[in-house]
Amino acid sequence: MSKKILIVGASRGIGLGLAKEFASRGWGVVASERTRSDELHGAGEIDIVTVDVTEPDSYLGLKNKFGEGSLDAIIVNAGITGASHQSAEQATDEEIAHVMQTNAYGPARVGKALLPMLKAGGTLAFMSSLMGSIADSSGGYEFYRVSKVSLNMLAKGIAEQQAKERDVEVLSLHPGWVQTDMGGPNAKITVEESCKGLADVVEKAGGAGYRFVNYKGEQIPF
Ligand code: NDP
Repeated sequence: MSKKILIVGASRGIGLGLAKEFASRGWGVVASERTRSDELHGAGEIDIVTVDVTEPDSYLGLKNKFGEGSLDAIIVNAGITGASHQSAEQATDEEIAHVMQTNAYGPARVGKALLPMLKAGGTLAFMSSLMGSIADSSGGYEFYRVSKVSLNMLAKGIAEQQAKERDVEVLSLHPGWVQTDMGGPNAKITVEESCKGLADVVEKAGGAGYRFVNYKGEQIPF
């Protein structure tokens, strides 16, 4: 029987690329959009659901729809750059709260809520960023960085507290600098290259624990 994956935030960019890549590898793919994405609907044999990571009512029902232990992997990919001013002095409290909700608490809540959908030995991955590495930071993009550091911390917590006993590995993934709406046209790699690498990483993952790795499978320092 083919493996099955849920990709949250797949309307465009890396999420859409991941949905296509896993489908091309013969995986059963469930992918989410917030509002209708013609690209996702035209991407082939993909089961499409509607999820907003900041709205628990939009995803809590998925556990019943697909059943416990029905998935081999979940990737929570949704993310935003967020505050128009990325410095602590200029961004508004509302902007900061929105970035944190969308990039950190929202994805972590989705991961915790849907963890029972994973089989033992499955993988729960969060789309982080090299910008979430304190060791690597050169400053700038303050709230985006803080949101991804927080996401990594929350992911490690899920690995220690909830995933271990279910034998689920938790990953924070850095996709590379990718040509998407977020990454912009000058980004170094295509969506296809990033998603091939990320899919390899997820296919090879398994077993309890936590890792922060890039699309080539290389460890990233915290
Ligand atoms: P895009 O802006 O192209 O796509 C973002 C995706 O996230 C869209 O599908 C969007 O849906 C979805 N999304 C945003 N907010 C929500 C929400 N509240 N609930 C559900 N889905 C949501 O970005 P990328 O594809 O470039 O980025 C994907 C992930 O990779 C992000 O987490 C990003 O931080 C990370 N990343 C990207 C890098 C890059 O170079 N591109 C580098 C490092 C990390 P909608 O269409 O409805 O807005």
